[in-house]
Amino acid sequence: MSSVDRSEYTEGMERIDSNILEKVLDEAAGFDAQSYTERDVRTALSNDALSIGDFAALLSPAADGMLEEVAVRAKDETRRRFGNAVGLFTPIYLSNHCDGGCVYCGFSRDSGIKRTALSPEDAERKMRAVASTGLTDVLLLTGESRSMSGVRYIGECVRAASEHFRSVGIEVYPLNVSEYAYLRECGADSVTVFQETYDPEAYAELHLSGQKKVFSYRFDAQERALQGGMRGVAFGALLGLGDAAKDAFSCGVHAHMIQRKYPHAEISFSVPRLRPFVNSPSYVNPVSERRLLQVAMAYRIFMPSAGITVSTRESPSFRDNVIGLCATRISAGVSVSVDGGDDGNDGQFDISDERSVAEVRRALEERGMQPVFNDYVRT
Ligand code: SF4
Repeated sequence: MSSVDRSEYTEGMERIDSNILEKVLDEAAGFDAQSYTERDVRTALSNDALSIGDFAALLSPAADGMLEEVAVRAKDETRRRFGNAVGLFTPIYLSNHCDGGCVYCGFSRDSGIKRTALSPEDAERKMRAVASTGLTDVLLLTGESRSMSGVRYIGECVRAASEHFRSVGIEVYPLNVSEYAYLRECGADSVTVFQETYDPEAYAELHLSGQKKVFSYRFDAQERALQGGMRGVAFGALLGLGDAAKDAFSCGVHAHMIQRKYPHAEISFSVPRLRPFVNSPSYVNPVSERRLLQVAMAYRIFMPSAGITVSTRESPSFRDNVIGLCATRISAGVSVSVDGGDDGNDGQFDISDERSVAEVRRALEERGMQPVFNDYVRT
């Protein structure tokens, strides 16, 4: 088994007793996308419960040539587990202060953007406006700055959100178990942490500063969140940073192993991809829509009960199509700036789908889908 160097942990980072990271890295080391054949893909599609090897086959070039067959199974699983329901939510950016030095992100420490953070009062005002659109599911985000958006601040915002929404997710910097327990007490239900890439070497080259530099502390975040009492945890690899098939494979195996260890956990995936842009730097490995669809369908078939979210990085037509096949949750009325960028602060990335909540709702209904504003009752 791989041994993982946790010596980079900085003061205050909690260690938990887990070997899931080592197991995922071992599986990833044995993953060879080229080794699978059409026959392996057909075997995977005929199995009721997929093995890790079956999942790997669905991510291979052999499966790329059989996407119509893969889509039939993915659609069937989605219909059986979720009917035609699609969850709608919106992200609210609380703060873009960040100590991170991630070379691919507009919020990174040295990017020179205008920084701002909503006061808890302004956050509450914003939440009231979002709630008036009918949404009952919200995701609160911050950059990675314990000094500018501390845990108490996040807790205050979570408390305000829980007054307006039935489900409150957080996508903030990774925390310790007791901090997750505190935010759970404030009203947060779920935690999203993207590992970005599961290749430790590529990760080190892309994450130059801040606590995000510590690969293993980030990797264990979902476990700490569940130990802190969170109901759900979301996983994602930012496809395009490393080898997309291998990152998607590692992400799926990570989620699968967490599900086995914490059977009660509500698992979900996001499928973000890094979009190439003019003079794209060398770390961008372009990922096509077709590849993205293949990954999303492989997640669906491997873990049929998992939620799958497709973000506004993707076009309206892609999002509407993937919803019918495998995705179950879609954001609407999105701004990736703090308070919509009203004071001139910059967004984290460019979005491709700028539709309002009403427009997304209409588009889903026209496709025979049922927009669901929340199917979770807080206990
Ligand atoms: S990816 Fe996260 S940690 Fe990195 S610069 Fe962006 S907001 Fe900061």
